[in-house]
Amino acid sequence: MPHAFFNKIRGPVDFVYNGVCDLLAPPYCVSCHRFLEERIPLCTSCERFLEPVVSLEVSVTSNYAMRVYALTSYDKVVRSLVLAKHSRQRIASRQLGELVARGCYCPWEQFDCLVPVPLHWQRYAARGYNQAKVMAERIAQVRGITVSDGVRRVRATRFQATLSAEERIENVMAMSVLKKGFAEQYRGKHVVLIDDVFTTGATLCAVAKAIAVANPKTISALVAARVV
Ligand SMILES: [Zn+2]
Repeated sequence: MPHAFFNKIRGPVDFVYNGVCDLLAPPYCVSCHRFLEERIPLCTSCERFLEPVVSLEVSVTSNYAMRVYALTSYDKVVRSLVLAKHSRQRIASRQLGELVARGCYCPWEQFDCLVPVPLHWQRYAARGYNQAKVMAERIAQVRGITVSDGVRRVRATRFQATLSAEERIENVMAMSVLKKGFAEQYRGKHVVLIDDVFTTGATLCAVAKAIAVANPKTISALVAARVV
């Protein structure tokens, strides 16, 4: 179905979705579980515990370095939201997107499009959604930036958690490619990759390499949490 159609119904769908969520469970803070007046991820006292981390530069190719912006370090406040993806809690990824969109310090006005880090289709089939895409869609709504889902993985990867840092790099190399027709969209643009957690950076780097082929103006990355 065309994207324009989805964009048109997104507002009403969100409205109904939030209404249903309110009926099923009143809004509460995902960290301390205190009830809240409105549907926001964290209460103000828990939000204060989000420790800001400085941005980081990662080399992608000889022509590109990627600036990585993180909302916070990977500590217990965001960890529960990140880990919720394993139990297929789409709303947690949406809340991560919300937190990033409202709290991350980065040059928002520069960004042209948001590219969610792709999942291989087998992982997608098991989980039912891509947490990075759910995040990107929420950030896009709040910040008025387009989502451009133009990268795909070309083969299944073993679960990263069981691999060493070097194995992870090998595991993800050469597995992200641009989808047909997306090179045009990224050429000369400020492209921003979206993911939930930055650990070794290997996954983001592999996706950035695929984007670099299109000659964007800059490549940045925006994550909810960075392991420091
Ligand atoms: Zn709280």
